[in-house]
Amino acid sequence: MKDYEDEKPLIIVKGEGSFLIDSYGNRYLDGVSSLWVNLHGHRRKEIDRAITDQLKAISHSTLLGISHVPAITLAKKLVELAPEGLTKVFYSDNGSTAVEIALKMAFQYWQQKGSPQKEKRTFISLTYAYHGDTLGAVSVGGIDTFHKLYEPLLFSSYRVPSPYCYRCSLGKAYPACQLACINQVEEVINKCHREVAALIIEPLVQGAAGMLVAPPGYLKEVRRLCSKYDILLIADEVAVGFGRTGSMFACEQEGVVPDLMALAKGISGGYLPLAATLTTEEIYSAFLGEYQELRTFFHGHSYTGNPLACSAALASLEVFAKDHTLEKLKEKIAFLEKRLRSFYDLPQVGEVRQKGFMVGIELVKDRKSKEPYPLEHKVGIRVIQEARRRGVVIRPLGDVIVLMPPLSISSEHLEELVDTVFHSIACVTTPRRGE
Ligand SMILES: *Cc1c(COP(=O)(O)O)cnc(C)c1O
Repeated sequence: MKDYEDEKPLIIVKGEGSFLIDSYGNRYLDGVSSLWVNLHGHRRKEIDRAITDQLKAISHSTLLGISHVPAITLAKKLVELAPEGLTKVFYSDNGSTAVEIALKMAFQYWQQKGSPQKEKRTFISLTYAYHGDTLGAVSVGGIDTFHKLYEPLLFSSYRVPSPYCYRCSLGKAYPACQLACINQVEEVINKCHREVAALIIEPLVQGAAGMLVAPPGYLKEVRRLCSKYDILLIADEVAVGFGRTGSMFACEQEGVVPDLMALAKGISGGYLPLAATLTTEEIYSAFLGEYQELRTFFHGHSYTGNPLACSAALASLEVFAKDHTLEKLKEKIAFLEKRLRSFYDLPQVGEVRQKGFMVGIELVKDRKSKEPYPLEHKVGIRVIQEARRRGVVIRPLGDVIVLMPPLSISSEHLEELVDTVFHSIACVTTPRRGE
């Protein structure tokens, strides 16, 4: 807040395609999709219209004990699109909550299966995981800056190392390592699986950790281990879902079917708060019973599955089909990959990580030793301030510069985004005379 007070605040009043317009009429490229949510641009007429049409019918009615048409239609669509076997949909209204629901369902599933599985009460997550800001999600999180302070409030769980190849905890390099990190995962699971309800993972990319892209095959191996040791797999697709990694869901790329899948962010095309937790018939059936048995999943939010948000989500999925969004994305992903290579010309770029339309550019004080910048340099913040002066809105994760434009961005604007960020990094990291 102190930094913010010293700056001229940026107040957005309008959106138009890939652009944001501020209160002075300045236009900015929306380089992080308004925090990883926007897919088809702002003011997409089909989505605008779906919301106003729904508005004329009803803005909200509850999903507690009753239902409404957009929720039913959307659930059907989600099941069609999701990895085979995920047939049940539980709505909520944000990503953290979708994760809480997955954790609670996994826990309750084993409790209701009865002994000896009643011992399965805890979770495994990755060291640099981010699953949201509510306390259950923070308990399985591992980003010290966001999470450490709250430790006394959290439930304990097990950690396995994140596959952060640039700073490999085993000191190995891919592919020569042959995924040695998976052995560490198995060691942990082998010791604790009797107490573990589920392992939670962000498939393919650990987003908030700094866009850490897992080596190919890692997710598939995690799935194999979960099945082998009888623990559930929770895929947190909140960031990676809905086309971000190049496929509708990240799990698809390794042919993985999780037991629970959390969706939010892009689900409504970035228009309104909505989330869903998908699961299997097997898990669903553990919650069925006579009223007096109380096998119910007692979890519901006031705005769970809001009809306006569900209508926006349905319209967004229609745009995917109509625009051939995923097909068109391929070329843009390839362009991005090519253009990003030039970032290594900048000496302070340690690593450029990309999976589909998720990009993280890690800046380091020293490329050779990979030594990070001291915090007080605020290098990430300075880069985004420079980019803003040049007409691009982005937001860093520490010293990792994130690019995550709307999937609908034109090649021309994508080039503009990448060029601006390149020059902003160059401008901030080039030592001035006397430095
Ligand atoms: C953003 C995010 C969340 C939390 O979603 P909110 O809607 O911000 O609560 C959870 N998991 C992942 C992987 C995320 O990127």
